[in-house]
Amino acid sequence: MTLMEEASRGRVPREIGSVAEREGIDPAKLARLVATGRVVIPRNIRRENLVPVGVGEMLTTKVNVNVGTSKSLDSPETEVEKALAAVAAGTDAVMDLSTGGDLDLVRRKILDAVHIPVGSVPIYNAAVKKDVSSQGLFDALEKHAKDGVDFVTIHAGVNNNSLERLHQDPRIMGVVSRGGSLTMKYIAETGEDNPYYAEFDYLLEMAREYDLTLSLGDGLRPGCIEDASDRAKYMEFIMLGELVKRARAAGVQAMVEGPGHVPADEIQTSVKAMKYLTDGAPLYLLGPLVTDVAPGYDHITAAMGGVIAGMAGADFLCATTPSEHLDLPTKEDVIEGTYVTRVAAHAADLTRPGVREKARAWDLQMAKARADLDWNGQFNAAINPTRAKLIRHRRGVETDTCTMCSELCAIRLSKEALEMQRERK
Ligand code: SF4
Repeated sequence: MTLMEEASRGRVPREIGSVAEREGIDPAKLARLVATGRVVIPRNIRRENLVPVGVGEMLTTKVNVNVGTSKSLDSPETEVEKALAAVAAGTDAVMDLSTGGDLDLVRRKILDAVHIPVGSVPIYNAAVKKDVSSQGLFDALEKHAKDGVDFVTIHAGVNNNSLERLHQDPRIMGVVSRGGSLTMKYIAETGEDNPYYAEFDYLLEMAREYDLTLSLGDGLRPGCIEDASDRAKYMEFIMLGELVKRARAAGVQAMVEGPGHVPADEIQTSVKAMKYLTDGAPLYLLGPLVTDVAPGYDHITAAMGGVIAGMAGADFLCATTPSEHLDLPTKEDVIEGTYVTRVAAHAADLTRPGVREKARAWDLQMAKARADLDWNGQFNAAINPTRAKLIRHRRGVETDTCTMCSELCAIRLSKEALEMQRERK
């Protein structure tokens, strides 16, 4: 029985109990959210030593970090180091997006190294083997499932119809999803439909066998602000909604991926539409990036979009790094991207039903430490204490205030003013 089926029978398996305890939610309530597909807890039955993580309604906004080789840079050790650095920086999940070198080795090393959910994109294996065919795609999926991957991105929403939409409503950037573009090429070359779409029932059988969670990829996500809200994107949301329904009926957990590049004033509509069309499936977003013109700062443009998306209901933010659009991220980029995305997730949590009280208690802890000029208290409450300490001490000037205003410290002056006033009364 899959986790979703167990939850549907009112049971509380270990994974649900563990997530409920960490999130401070009633286990029976969480089981109901898993049963209805509003929350997913990705966990492959073959995975050992997994600390399960829940994604969806009434839970904190989660962060994923992508690692993985490319054809130009294919060191498995470096990618494992990046995954471990992301874990140390507080990510909730990692995805291996390797496309260079020995893909199977990288994936297995990452699975061995980390104890949080690991996701992957099987179509990359098929593409590297130059076998994007029905056989190649399902072989890749089975291999990833057997290795113990907890969730897989499947671009099943890209089909014959998608190509037609793109012809009728051309884009500036075309398709920027690797999985989406590989699928389109297969459709165009063979004249056949996307195997993951055409044989979705078979895919569900395979997912059931390993209790794999599907992350239904947005193969048609817009790659620039100009393309942000076209018919192809919304048509894909409709397709993904239908696939979510079929996955749930088969007892397979499913979440949905979303764009991409979206101007700030269109994010709420985009998120609400995705949630509505997919019957509240957990929503996993890359960004959204709120502008195209900030290479080098795209971890920030994505975090800006992530906060707005989180406020509108997005559940899972994929970290973007300063290298986005420019280069394969370094370990330092991954660390920076993880923290910045965690900041966005927490900012969204301050407004999120079910978790805002806990999130606000964290901010209150920091506010009280600041009011007391309690520097250790501030470091303890900081999302990245190491960075906060480094900046505070970098000039070696030690004062009870900080070097920003020194003796004109507003916090101290206002406290003194209030004390004087009290004494005078
Ligand atoms: S010196 Fe200025 S910036 Fe620093 S703690 Fe005081 S008020 Fe804040």
